[in-house]
Amino acid sequence: MAIQQAAQPSSQKLHVLIIGGGIAGLTLAQALRKYNISFTVFERDESATSRPQGWGISLHSTLVTLENHVPGEVYDAICQAQVNPEAGRDEVRGVPFVNLDTGKVEHMVPKSKRLRLRRDGVRLGLTKGLDILWGKKLASISRKGDDNAICATFEDGTSYTGTVLVGADGAHSAVRRILAPDNNAWENRRLPCNAIGTSYYISGAKVNELREQVDPLYFFGTDPKTNTYAFWSMLEQPDDGGMMYKMQLYFSWIPSGDERELVGLSPAEVFKLKGATMFPTLREVMAEMPEDAVVSYVNLVEWPAVAWDNWDGMATLAGDAAHCMSIYRGEGVNHGIIDGCVLADALKRAADGVVCPRKAVEEYEAEMRLRGKEAVDVSHQACLDAHDYRKIETEGSFALLGAKKV
Ligand SMILES: Cc1cc2nc3c(=O)[nH]c(=O)nc-3n(C[C@H](O)[C@H](O)[C@H](O)COP(=O)(O)OP(=O)(O)OC[C@H]3O[C@@H](n4cnc5c(N)ncnc54)[C@H](O)[C@@H]3O)c2cc1C
Repeated sequence: MAIQQAAQPSSQKLHVLIIGGGIAGLTLAQALRKYNISFTVFERDESATSRPQGWGISLHSTLVTLENHVPGEVYDAICQAQVNPEAGRDEVRGVPFVNLDTGKVEHMVPKSKRLRLRRDGVRLGLTKGLDILWGKKLASISRKGDDNAICATFEDGTSYTGTVLVGADGAHSAVRRILAPDNNAWENRRLPCNAIGTSYYISGAKVNELREQVDPLYFFGTDPKTNTYAFWSMLEQPDDGGMMYKMQLYFSWIPSGDERELVGLSPAEVFKLKGATMFPTLREVMAEMPEDAVVSYVNLVEWPAVAWDNWDGMATLAGDAAHCMSIYRGEGVNHGIIDGCVLADALKRAADGVVCPRKAVEEYEAEMRLRGKEAVDVSHQACLDAHDYRKIETEGSFALLGAKKV
């Protein structure tokens, strides 16, 4: 087996091994780059574009922290992924919650600085200026002889050593599996709802109707008749004078009984059935769905434990690997970005000789575990509330509609 050493592998000099080139891992990498701290990013994908990266994401007050931690040209590249560049970078906006029976906006998530971005564009922007090792799927990790170094081994047989290893390898993290093995503590918990989504192009006329009736960028809501939840978002504006806009639409519901009525239906048929009772404009948007639209089920999981053995401060987790949460507060990626920035700040103190790397990891985890655990729990409640229109109307729901912490 080839034992390779990443850029600055000596046990004296700090070198960070980042497993996973998603938004959390790449934010950490860019912040370390800005601090001039040595690191290597290992990503199992063959390239930045070899796998679809899903739909849109919203970045909130996290934007300020992100802008302060990554090089200016990287922040600019991220902003270029805005689904509506005309909205500008400093837009302050709320998010409408809609009664999906009437189409009426009933509540508004409080206004804050917010950008709606394409997820693939954010990831691509974060790769700018980085020398990522693609096609590296982690197989195992181990301590090196003197215990001052940690070694990552990949499925292609190569190994790399560093001072600290960060598992930023997503919701189904291989690193978490190694750090939290007891009683399968690493295992995700499935959320109690089923979800399905798609994206396709619709006419400018329909977009204008949604814009006038609800929101030009995105909204969410619940159908009081069925408690089905929906999320709609613009994904791309026409940039060539064309008239077709790309959008995403997502439905979820808590299954009652055996869902016999769905047996034998294709994903597209299930999708149409779930939206069939919603307000007319949304039904018309669904009527524009082309025959070849890809409709997929979404596997919703969370990891409420947020606890692992950090091998005396040599290994830790970030992003979904650390605190995978339900999507109903739209916070997951925001916490991943904050993780990257907080961890980079702590490692900077280690690089400057203020604390040892082990202590830096502990400082990061002390802040992140509390923040992450709270976010997983509130996001779980948001998932339950999102499918209970009566509760939202009678008691309200901070979890679903309240201001975001990050
Ligand atoms: C439908 C949907 C909508 C969402 N909407 C929002 C939203 O609006 N706002 C929000 O804040 N969040 C949202 N999220 C959550 C958000 O997408 C995630 O929280 C975020 O992408 C997590 O980033 P990450 O870098 O931690 O993980 P990932 O993006 O999953 O990246 C992990 C990376 O690690 C790599 N990897 C995995 N295993 C290995 C291995 N063994 N070796 C090497 N590399 C490996 C993967 O290929 C991947 O590139 C949504 C999620 C879903 C499913």
